[in-house]
Amino acid sequence: MAQTPQDVLNWIKNDGIELIDLKFIDLPGIWQHLTVCANQIDESSFTNGVAFDGSSIRGWKAINESDMTMVLDPTTAWIDPFMATPTLSVICSIKEPRTGEWYSRCPRVIAQKAVDYLTVTGIGDTAFFGPEAEFFIFDDVRFDQNQHEGYYHVDSIEGRWNSGKVYPEGNLGYKPRYKEGYFPVAPTDTSQDMRSEMLLTMGKVGVPIEKHHHEVATGGQCELGIRFDTLVKSADNLMIYKYCIKNVARKYGKTVTFMPKPVFNDNGSGMHTHQSIWKDGQPLFGGDGYAGLSQMALWYIGGILKHAPALLAFTNPTTNSYKRLVPGFEAPVNLAYSQGNRSASVRIPLSGDSPKAKRLEFRCPDATSNPYLAFAAMLCAGIDGIKNQIDPGEPLDVDIYDLSPEELAKIPSTPGSLEDALECLEKDHDFLTTGGVFTEDLINTWIQYKLDNEVNPMRLRPHPYEFALYYDC
Ligand code: GLU
Ligand code: MG
Ligand code: MG
Repeated sequence: MAQTPQDVLNWIKNDGIELIDLKFIDLPGIWQHLTVCANQIDESSFTNGVAFDGSSIRGWKAINESDMTMVLDPTTAWIDPFMATPTLSVICSIKEPRTGEWYSRCPRVIAQKAVDYLTVTGIGDTAFFGPEAEFFIFDDVRFDQNQHEGYYHVDSIEGRWNSGKVYPEGNLGYKPRYKEGYFPVAPTDTSQDMRSEMLLTMGKVGVPIEKHHHEVATGGQCELGIRFDTLVKSADNLMIYKYCIKNVARKYGKTVTFMPKPVFNDNGSGMHTHQSIWKDGQPLFGGDGYAGLSQMALWYIGGILKHAPALLAFTNPTTNSYKRLVPGFEAPVNLAYSQGNRSASVRIPLSGDSPKAKRLEFRCPDATSNPYLAFAAMLCAGIDGIKNQIDPGEPLDVDIYDLSPEELAKIPSTPGSLEDALECLEKDHDFLTTGGVFTEDLINTWIQYKLDNEVNPMRLRPHPYEFALYYDC
């Protein structure tokens, strides 16, 4: 693995690398890339960067001020296994060429600023993040809402969009039953080989890999486990994770979606995010409080829960995200914390006696988020909780089904829609801007981008289910 610019330049020279693929993340969270000849890369590519036109990148610059530069991070170099010509891939952050400053709308720059802010506060010097991104594998891109892998379809007699009940079709032998995808062996599990190839591929390009398995939903829902890492590294790893998964699936003639709720009435896909803070090589979240947590960890939870309605505009940033955050599918709906209760949005996983493993799991996020922005926003919420000693209240250890409607009404819940979350972000974002991590410009751009490109276009379109409800009126 390369560490320094010279390592990368040596790699190019010694291995006869002819092409370098420069990858960077746009505002919504999709990797973009530019492939350059190896002779275009020198020492200055790692400081001043490589020039490109940033005017057509979503949420970035206007056409009259379009010049930008991609600055290569030498620690992220890997041979891209999906390109026919041996190509060295490098992840970049964006700089303004005129001022030489880091670009304030580059998500990777924002993620680094969140880590710098943690250090400046003196609270810690390292934030570890461990995302668990679930996804569905479908047959191909011509996805038919009514025929997932040919196993199930939404009943057409009662009205496809009407009952939403899922009925089996054809021979049921060795097909996972409804909500029983987690996790019988082959031949019921048909994506074993594909998942193995996905996991081993990302291992080969440097992502620390751990495991893979089928998930609960029937239509090919899966999860691969990668090891936690420092905030920026973990976001880089998540982008490589999505890239490897999508591209291996394509080799198998399949397509993958990280949409949080692609199938009505079955489990959705989350991206639970484990997190902890360390200082001078020492973990700070272990202690003698609730569930073996330190006071600092409890305040961090306080910050996450207090700001959750606004935070979700970054961690659950699509209209589809809110179709997942409903009761009955292991997704969180309650803005509360608990050791074991999976309906609580913050869970404290069992971690044995080791304070090093002590962490919390925020269960709201999904993988439609931009991981750099989502991780940075979560860290800012946690820091705000620690700085202001925000009490997270009592844990939610009761079974919520035992609570009376009055008791249940006292527990705050996740926002009902992207529009609601954006409104909360508009009202509550000082915790993101205080340390200079997010700028007002970034927050406004994000809200406007989401309203113009997602919330309003969705609102203006007749929904298929409206035909079932209203066509005959
Ligand atoms: N798929 C569930 C979710 O939407 C999570 C299942 C699990 O705990 O792994 O969050
Ligand atoms: Mg899972
Ligand atoms: Mg989890």
